[in-house]
Amino acid sequence: MQLSRYFLPILKETPKEAEIVSHRLMLRAGMIRQQAAGSYTWLPLGKRVLDKVSRIIREEQDRSGAIEILMPTIQSADLWRESGRYDDYGKEMLRIEDRHGRDMLFGPTNEEMVTDIFRSSVKTYKDLPLNLYHIQWKFRDEVRPRFGVMRSREFLMKDAYSFDLDYESARVSYDRMFVAYLRTFERLGLKAIPMRADTGPIGGELSHEFIILASTGESEVFCHRDYLEMATPAAGVDFQNAEELAAIVKTWTTPYAATEEMHDEAAWAALPEGEKLAARGIEVGHIFHFGTKYSEPMGATVTGPDGKDVPVHMGSYGIGPSRLIAAIIEASHDENGIIWPESVAPFDIGVVNMRPGDAECDRVCADIEAAYEAAGRSVLVDDSDQRAGSKFATMDLIGLPWQVIVGPRGVANGEVEVKHRASGERSVKPLAELLAAAGGPAA
Ligand code: ATP
Ligand code: MG
Repeated sequence: MQLSRYFLPILKETPKEAEIVSHRLMLRAGMIRQQAAGSYTWLPLGKRVLDKVSRIIREEQDRSGAIEILMPTIQSADLWRESGRYDDYGKEMLRIEDRHGRDMLFGPTNEEMVTDIFRSSVKTYKDLPLNLYHIQWKFRDEVRPRFGVMRSREFLMKDAYSFDLDYESARVSYDRMFVAYLRTFERLGLKAIPMRADTGPIGGELSHEFIILASTGESEVFCHRDYLEMATPAAGVDFQNAEELAAIVKTWTTPYAATEEMHDEAAWAALPEGEKLAARGIEVGHIFHFGTKYSEPMGATVTGPDGKDVPVHMGSYGIGPSRLIAAIIEASHDENGIIWPESVAPFDIGVVNMRPGDAECDRVCADIEAAYEAAGRSVLVDDSDQRAGSKFATMDLIGLPWQVIVGPRGVANGEVEVKHRASGERSVKPLAELLAAAGGPAA
């Protein structure tokens, strides 16, 4: 992609309204634009990251056996009346009336709708377990939308819903999602700690929030230092093996970890001082087991092996891709800008053409782009006529993992300069070597 043909509205000034670094950087790097309080357009650079994050989430959901669907954003109030939540949910729910005077709402979550889908077609325990998920926009009329996409009113969420015959099998479904989440966060380059959590308006008794430690986080959290060193389950984990899953969940839930609402002062006080980690955190995922809270009032039953009809046991599992992007930036930036983990970078490589219009520089940039694109890596070429300092600043700001600087003197010697954004390390490389490495592990 040539920058001159792209849409990258970089801001030169630091936006005053942005209180935290991720919000500032997302605005400055031209990733998002505010349209109204808590509502954002995802500009091209931001959209690429959102798609990459969503893809990793999707891959790990699929690997664990969950099945993707897509439910509408606008829901009928009648479904929510069945569960009793239409009146309970409060002002966060955006209520809408259609032209026939029917009550509708913009979905803040989908328990009711998915329960309705389930009850319309699943009748026997033989079709269980089942886990249906979607990645869809949600709207919650937050009292104080702030911090950009970290707490917005319209945001993207992956929400999965599991259905099982009884508590024991529902517990396995819960563990499956727990493990899928650990893998997802690891692939996003994040250390997320599962903490015992309050179930809030979703209801139920078993729940964990996945928290990223960050000084700008909104929650106060308490955990054991051991979490910082824990190894994430490998890609080969067997999602059909209940014991294997339970063992992983046990390892990850045994050391102390709780959010403020669930904090147990006595258990905390019993920990040796040097092992305690009291910090602030960002909630990026939340999983719940809530049993028959929705299936019972909504009549979602299955016939069990004994021929009796029983309400199905359910859980729900949310991750916010839009909030995650802000959290990744909070965890990975420096004074010059964003430092993307390779897995979610909007482009893999940024090429700076120091003299656009110079036939040799243009040709070398085009060759690099072609070689890396052919190897499945995305390239953004800065072919603008900005001065060098400003081009370097833009590259650092948008945080692509590798920068390749193409100037007339180097090109004359058959060389380019390569910079690794995260470490700042620079090296001069023969062009032929760089082109040959296109299919290899690093630029
Ligand atoms: P919070 O406690 O931060 O308000 P929540 O507990 O209401 O969040 P859940 O219902 O558990 O959120 O939603 C699942 C996930 O959706 C959250 O872990 C988060 O990643 C994301 N999410 C929730 N609310 C927002 C929001 N206002 N803006 C962006 N992402 C959000
Ligand atoms: Mg939550």
